Formats: sequence, structure tokens, C-alpha cells
Amino acid sequence: MPDHICVTCGTQHAEREHPPARCAICEDERQYVGPDGQRWTTLERLRETHENRIEPEGDGNAPYGIGTVPKFAIGQRALLVQAPGGNVLWDCVTLWDDATARRIEALGGVSAIAISHPHYYTTMVEWARALDVPVYLHEADRAWVMRPDPRLTFWSGETREIGDGLTLLRLGGHFPGGQVLHWRDGAEGRGALLTGDIIQVVPDTRWVSFMYSYPNLIPLPAAEVRRIADAVRPLAFDRVYGAWWGLNVLADARGAVLRSADRYVAALARVGG
Ligand SMILES: [Zn+2]
Ligand SMILES: [Zn+2]
Repeated sequence: MPDHICVTCGTQHAEREHPPARCAICEDERQYVGPDGQRWTTLERLRETHENRIEPEGDGNAPYGIGTVPKFAIGQRALLVQAPGGNVLWDCVTLWDDATARRIEALGGVSAIAISHPHYYTTMVEWARALDVPVYLHEADRAWVMRPDPRLTFWSGETREIGDGLTLLRLGGHFPGGQVLHWRDGAEGRGALLTGDIIQVVPDTRWVSFMYSYPNLIPLPAAEVRRIADAVRPLAFDRVYGAWWGLNVLADARGAVLRSADRYVAALARVGG
């Protein structure tokens, strides 16, 4: 029986004979159902038309980006962090195929997967089974898992270490369990933060933003943005790697996040938020 994949968000649902009637992730107000209505595909079909591009996301010890061409669903790229204690796959994309498996093997394999929030859960169970690794998700977003599996490892609280110098922080905001990965040795030892949609790098990459819904342009309350800024303030990081190719803050990223939070809260105050 096929594992049906939502074409709009790329989420694989548990196997069943017929596609589900709806995708809960897309019907949520943080996402959307496309103008043609709910559509489904399968991994087998996707493999015939798409492939993954895998290349470094910058210089130095930058992580490798993994993105699908042509664009599929939301269009994010995942990141492979190479660490002496074991590589970590940060976020995920829907297309899992043999070419991707071979490339990841050549890059040193993967010891763990962690995913920022439900929009990037995609086919995480395919990746976890093939690589035989756990997937770290925050307990607060458990209800958004559409394909349960014993490899999904839910954690609670505010921080969770998943490797030497690799720490998950729950920042919430976009989703209650929204998490980011602090990589102590990133940016040649100055530290890096991998943020998915939880802190979004914007086209002027000296800045970031924060939203409840990106496609529907619904902002977060000021108190949530202040809380996120306070949570990252104690951390050392010089770079932020966002959710898209090239959208990374490459210098003074901690300052950029704190300045961006101030700018956001000031903008909300102007509209009475
Ligand atoms: Zn969907
Ligand atoms: Zn999202």
C-alpha cells in the first residue's frame, strides 16, 4: 500500500490503500490547500521527475544543503552538519532516493535527524528507517505527526543535547514545539544556529523575521518575539542558516536576530499590536 504524500506541503501520511480525504497540515491556517484542491502523490512517482541537489551552503565548515529540483511542495532545503561525534541531518525534504543515500554515505553518514517543525516533517520516517537513526522532535508538536514510527523521539522542556556541541532549543512561535539547532563548532568555531522557519532569514540577509504563518502573512505577538530573542541571547553564534538556499546570516548573526526582534516589536507597536 502506498504512503500518500501531500503535493502542497510534502508530508507523507501513514500507508493506506486510498489517499486521505484531507491534509491536516495544509488545512491549518499556517498553511493552505492549493487552488486545485487537495492533491496527492507517492515517493515512487516523485523519484521519476525529481532529484536532490546536494552541495555546501557556503565556505569553511558550512553544512551541506539538500534540496529538491525542480522545486517540490514548500521548497525548503535540509542541512547536513558534519560533526566529529556523528553527522546530524537538520530538517528534511520529501524526496528520498538511492542517489541521496549514496551521497550522504560519502559525506560520512548521519547519526541523528532533527526537524524544526511540522512543515518539514515530510518523509522523515523513510529517511530514519533507511539511515537507521532517531528523529528528534519536540513533544509539543506530536499531534502533527502524520506517519508514526518508533524512531521518532519526542523530547520536552527547553533544551536537549543531541551530540557534542549540538543542542536543540525549543523556541516555539511559528509552532509551539518549534526548535532550532545550536552548533557550537559552526562558523569555524564562532557558533551557528540552524533555524528552519522558527527564525526566518529574509532577503536582506543582515536581518531575520518571525511569523505565525508565512504563506498567509500572519505575524506573531510581540511577547512571543521577545521571548524568542531572550532565549537566544545567551548563545554564541555568528551565523544563522535559514530554511532556503542562500538565505543565511553570515556575520554577527546573534546581533542580527536581536536587532530584528527589536525592529519587529517596534513595527507591531506602530499598528497597535
Ligand atoms: Zn499538506
Ligand atoms: Zn513553517
